[in-house]
Amino acid sequence: MYDKLIFELSKQGRRGYSLPAAEVPAAEIPEELRRKSPLDMPEVTELDVVRHYTNLSRKNYGVDQGFYPLGSCTMKYNPKINEELASLSAFARLHPLQPASTAQGALAVYFHLEEMLKEVTGMAAFSFSPFAGAHGEACGLMIMKKYHQSRGDYKRTKIIVPDTAHGTNPASASVVGFDTLVVGSTPEGTVDVEKLKELLNDEIAGIMLTNPNTLGIFEKDIMEIARLMRENGSLLYYDGANLNALLGVARPAEMGFDIIHLNLHKTFSTPHGGGGPGSGPVGVRADLADFLPNPRVVKRDDGYALHYSDASIGAIGGFYGNFLVVLKAYAYLLSLGKEHLDKVGKFSVLNANYIKESLKDDYLLPINGLCKHEVVFDGLIKGGATTLDVAKRLLDYGYHPPTIYFPLLYHQSLMIEPTEAESKETIDDFIAVMKKIAAEAVQNPELLKEAPHNTPVRRLDEVKAARQPVIKYKDMP
Ligand SMILES: *Cc1c(COP(=O)(O)O)cnc(C)c1O
Repeated sequence: MYDKLIFELSKQGRRGYSLPAAEVPAAEIPEELRRKSPLDMPEVTELDVVRHYTNLSRKNYGVDQGFYPLGSCTMKYNPKINEELASLSAFARLHPLQPASTAQGALAVYFHLEEMLKEVTGMAAFSFSPFAGAHGEACGLMIMKKYHQSRGDYKRTKIIVPDTAHGTNPASASVVGFDTLVVGSTPEGTVDVEKLKELLNDEIAGIMLTNPNTLGIFEKDIMEIARLMRENGSLLYYDGANLNALLGVARPAEMGFDIIHLNLHKTFSTPHGGGGPGSGPVGVRADLADFLPNPRVVKRDDGYALHYSDASIGAIGGFYGNFLVVLKAYAYLLSLGKEHLDKVGKFSVLNANYIKESLKDDYLLPINGLCKHEVVFDGLIKGGATTLDVAKRLLDYGYHPPTIYFPLLYHQSLMIEPTEAESKETIDDFIAVMKKIAAEAVQNPELLKEAPHNTPVRRLDEVKAARQPVIKYKDMP
């Protein structure tokens, strides 16, 4: 019965609320403002509604239910104490328009988190305005543009991205009005420095890199790349959406990056994945700080204040970013402390390498050697099943699949990111299931081709879903 849609549970006259009789006379709504026909809403009791949504939520899958190895997404455990802090009314009920003098605690959180992120990354200053990673990229590239233009250099209209780049990188470059040039990778999965040299000239504003890149490989030539870019008068942008592998171990500033963004909703423990609130703070080297978006939190003799810089690229969003996400990142870093931060980096790398070594006899490993926080396979070694079949079969075993068909470099990409948060037992179970699926692909490939078998919805026709989307309930007006 709970597979029914809420409209189908409707019975005329049922109500989900009861209100006491009004103590004041009812106000008349003028005739012209009244609906011409009654609103077609489901008529259900409170119990119906609670059961309906509870059952719907159980069809969902989240990191609080099970292993979620979605590569490039850093689906780590988000400590519940952070949520509790963020729900305290002293934080949750602040109003963005209240005077700074009455929000000193919140401004202190911004200030101290900035100090911590400076320490973690080596950058000189941060802005918390961006609401997402991609928003941070666009903001960072606006700063890059402004930097060149402030030096009277209007010629630099091109951004270089590697062929392994996250799709948001070239997208952000075009949003900010840059053209994108793609630089190829070596067979080891890192930027091909010789090919990079061929692209350099006085039209190159900068390069966008992720390190470790989206293949999970560390760009070992980063110092040479930084030298080449600098010599060319170009800047280095660091996409730090997934900083997991580096936490407490290495810092983007020391690799020569000038502008970076972080995803607080990946690396710094805010639940994400449903398009929920995010935060993509942008960090810069010292001489770029004045270009950061307005306003920034500064510390003065009489307390914390909002600072507006004339050289700024301006405001890039309402008010001061997603404060509660900032607060959770602050709590997360405080609870780890300087002493334990490197464990995030080291365990995320250890876990990914453990999976890589355990599965390399069953799944094609295009790049041998150490990976960082994630590992990319190129589909099964044996049997006719595709990466999509493997992903669908994983659903039958109760796992969220890894990222599939990204990076685009391989035809059957399967990108696994276990994060530091998982136990050896959980990872061993996952490895056992992946091996079982590899065996099924040889013995009974139909089982994979027709998967999933035991989910509420079977395999969807993705082409039809894209071409012919049905997005409203059939009986709705
Ligand atoms: C997730 C991610 C982004 C984009 O972040 P959003 O918050 O989803 O906009 C950018 N780059 C990389 C490498 C990512 O993994």
